[in-house]
Amino acid sequence: MLGDDIVARINQLATISETSEHLARVFLSPEHRVAADLILSWMKDAGMAAHLDAIGNVCGRYEGDRPGLPCLMLGSHYDTVRDAGKWDGPLGVITAIACVTELNRRGVRLPYAIEVVGFADEEGVRFASTLLGSRAVAGTFDESVLAVRDRDGISMREAMVTFGLDPEHLGAAARARRELHAYVELHIEQGPVLEQQNLPVGVVTAIAGATRLAASLSGMAGHAGTVPMALRRDALAGAAECIVAVERFCKADDAGLVGTVGAITALPGATNVIPGQVSFTLDIRAPTDLHRKRAVAEIVRKIEAIAKRRDLTLQIDVTHENRTVPCAPWLKTQVAEAVAAEGYSVFELPSGAGHDGMAMIDIADVAMLFVRCRGGISHNPAEHVETADADAGARVLLRFIENFSPPA
Ligand SMILES: [Zn+2]
Repeated sequence: MLGDDIVARINQLATISETSEHLARVFLSPEHRVAADLILSWMKDAGMAAHLDAIGNVCGRYEGDRPGLPCLMLGSHYDTVRDAGKWDGPLGVITAIACVTELNRRGVRLPYAIEVVGFADEEGVRFASTLLGSRAVAGTFDESVLAVRDRDGISMREAMVTFGLDPEHLGAAARARRELHAYVELHIEQGPVLEQQNLPVGVVTAIAGATRLAASLSGMAGHAGTVPMALRRDALAGAAECIVAVERFCKADDAGLVGTVGAITALPGATNVIPGQVSFTLDIRAPTDLHRKRAVAEIVRKIEAIAKRRDLTLQIDVTHENRTVPCAPWLKTQVAEAVAAEGYSVFELPSGAGHDGMAMIDIADVAMLFVRCRGGISHNPAEHVETADADAGARVLLRFIENFSPPA
């Protein structure tokens, strides 16, 4: 069973961590190096030519029935958040290697090459900039990020040199569109939907775009005992109304809209003072850009109306925006055929979380296969995938690889 080998390797990789108390493996750290060497050894054992690229991604190539053919690229990331689970990222890399191992064992060569990439940084923990590994491969790496410093004051440029990479030659990691037929990623769902559907795997329709906003409401601070209710301009009560309005609006949407207020600060922040100044964040995601943009406009209108009615001054700004990445229909169909061929119902769902496909779309069509994770819990040590589900994911991916038909 492929699942047993996959789980054993997940556990082995999870021992490579910044501390033994919790799992943390960030970009360009000593752990990154040790993990890279381990994954490269697995790639070589699977019959691949393997190397570390210019940004620290691990890259393995299993030639097709003749050398130099364009590839089907599979992969995911092997960096983690701090206090991470062990499946987010590594499952996709390790499952892809397990599939190649199986092809190699059977002596199968396909009319296309298979490449497996383990991206060095997807989470963006160390330098607060995500998708660094896949952006380098897609040729969209923003070199100004090299000057960004981590919490210890070390710049990315310095960290790259210490790691043994040359920041002046980052461009060497970039791949051309003609070298790739497609990019396909297997990843844990990081949500509860597959568990609710009682299915081990799901076919991703799109990686949802996101808009993040920062809002601040200004009212009037005052004494909690002396200012009558009717004369108050309480910024926190106003923010509370905004938060409920966001939740109500998103809940009423039945097409995948999600909205979250994840952080709030109230000033002056004392028990006996009416809050005069409140800032909060907003994160809005939807399966299509049009849907998300309309929702953001409507939510901003609602917040403006609440502020006006309560005589609060509102400042609201978009702080981050990324587009929706649709999975290519032709590729998604082939993933769905593999799911059905392995005997599972085909269930489609959008990805609310970001993934490396968001960068890879610039050089290749993208598809994703989700694997169920317990309770939908992720970015948490309690993250868990059943061995049977890891096995189901591997069988579907292997079937997809073997039946893969590049676009004419
Ligand atoms: Zn991930």
